[in-house]
Parts: sequence; structure tokens; C-alpha cells
Amino acid sequence: MAKSSKIGHCHLCGSYGKLSFEHVPPESAFNNQKVVTPDAKKVFELTNLDDLRILSGKQSQRGKGGYTLCERCNNLTGHWYGSNYAAWAFQGAAYLVRSNGMLQLAYPYHLLPLRVIKQIVCMFFSINSPRFREAHPALERFVLNKEAKYLPPDIQIYAGYLLSDRSRAAGITGSLQLDESSGVSHLRTYSEISFRPFSYILSIKSPPPEHPLLDISFFAQYGYDDFTTLQLPIPVLSVYTPFPGDFRSREAVLRESGGRNLSLKKHLQSD
Ligand SMILES: [Zn+2]
Repeated sequence: MAKSSKIGHCHLCGSYGKLSFEHVPPESAFNNQKVVTPDAKKVFELTNLDDLRILSGKQSQRGKGGYTLCERCNNLTGHWYGSNYAAWAFQGAAYLVRSNGMLQLAYPYHLLPLRVIKQIVCMFFSINSPRFREAHPALERFVLNKEAKYLPPDIQIYAGYLLSDRSRAAGITGSLQLDESSGVSHLRTYSEISFRPFSYILSIKSPPPEHPLLDISFFAQYGYDDFTTLQLPIPVLSVYTPFPGDFRSREAVLRESGGRNLSLKKHLQSD
């Protein structure tokens, strides 16, 4: 990466200076190997949807992430939340492997919920532009004050198990979806991070996602040192297309399109 790209505004505290490489998710949560991120633009050049399987993309040799946080924020959040996030991801991965992707029940997690959700929110700061923090100062305080509880009321975090080995990250996106049975359109504003074993949606002033993800916003009601066991009925999702919020499996995408053209939703990029 060019040297100039390592200077800039920290996505979390806003300070200007040298930025350090922030792994999203943390390196200790399986993110220490070569990864490929499919390029969404290339999708429009495809003539056969099944070619999505072999779509090439950006390669990263050191795991997924970017120069997004100043050294101080990187070190503090890693120290406060990193290892607890990794413990959560390891439990999720173990359930996925053991059940061969056929999860149907609620499984017990032993965790520090507040630390896990703070790491997740921190990851959303990293993948969004620095303007995200300007729009959500309360969320910045939530991450940078390790004891702070409760998400801002207009923000929800959802989780699902991610079955496919594809990763996907999308900054704040507006999506207008028509409910064909009622004829009502829903505008959803959300950001997504998908990296095995979990997909996360951060939604802003929006109805729940179309797909049945588990709302884990209540993790923010625990204290910093509250260790607990939670039975979590987390649904299993697929990531096949590069479009945020689209958790249809490859089979479902091919079936719905008749194997020819992509059914594209209208996505409006915004910050
Ligand atoms: Zn910072």
C-alpha cells in the first residue's frame, strides 16, 4: 500500500496523523490469512450468474482490514475488546463446524456481551468512511469509553452465522425494497460486515433486515466485566452476491433469476 495512504483521519476518534493497520475482524478471530474480496463492479460484466463462484477480487495477504485507526485507538480497542471478541468468534465457528451448517437450536455462548458488541461497532467504524463518526458521536463515545453501556436508540446490531467462505463489507447503504404482498416500500439504512463465522448488520432508523438475523443490540446492556451465558438462536445465512443485505444462497439466486440475469436491488450509496 502506498505510503501516503497511511496518513489520515482516524475513523474512530477523528485525530489526524499516522494510521495503523486495523484487522476487521481482529487478527485473532481467524483473520490472519490471505483473503479475497469479490469486486462488486465485475458482477455487472457477468453473463452467467453461476460465474459469481469464480469471481476474482482484491487480494490481501495479511488478512482483511485497512489503515483506518490511529495507533492509540487500535491499541486501546484491541486491548479492551479484542480477545473477548475472538473467544466469541471461536465459539461460533465451533458450532458451525460441529453442526455442518444445519443449526436450528439456540446454542450457549459464554461471553462478555458488552465487549463483544463494542468490538463489532468498532469494526463498523473501520469499514465506513471517517464521516461515519461525524454522524454518530454517541456511537464513538460508546466504543472509546469502555464502561459506557447502551447503544443510541436509533442503532441496532444484528447477527447471523455465515456459512459461505466469502467475505463482504459495505459502508452505510440505503436500500429501497418493495414488499410485493402489501405494496409498501421500506427504506433501510445499514452497513454490513460478513466474515466467517458471522455476518453483522448495523442498521440506522430502519425496520429489521429482510432476512431473519438475530438482534444482539441487548449485548450493550451488560457491564464491562459482566461475564454471562446466553442461549442464542442465531440464524444461518449465505453470502453469494456482493450486494449488502443480500443473504440469498447461490441456489436461491440462480432459482430466482432463472440462471440468466441478476435481480438487482436499487442501492444508493451514501455516508
Ligand atoms: Zn483514533
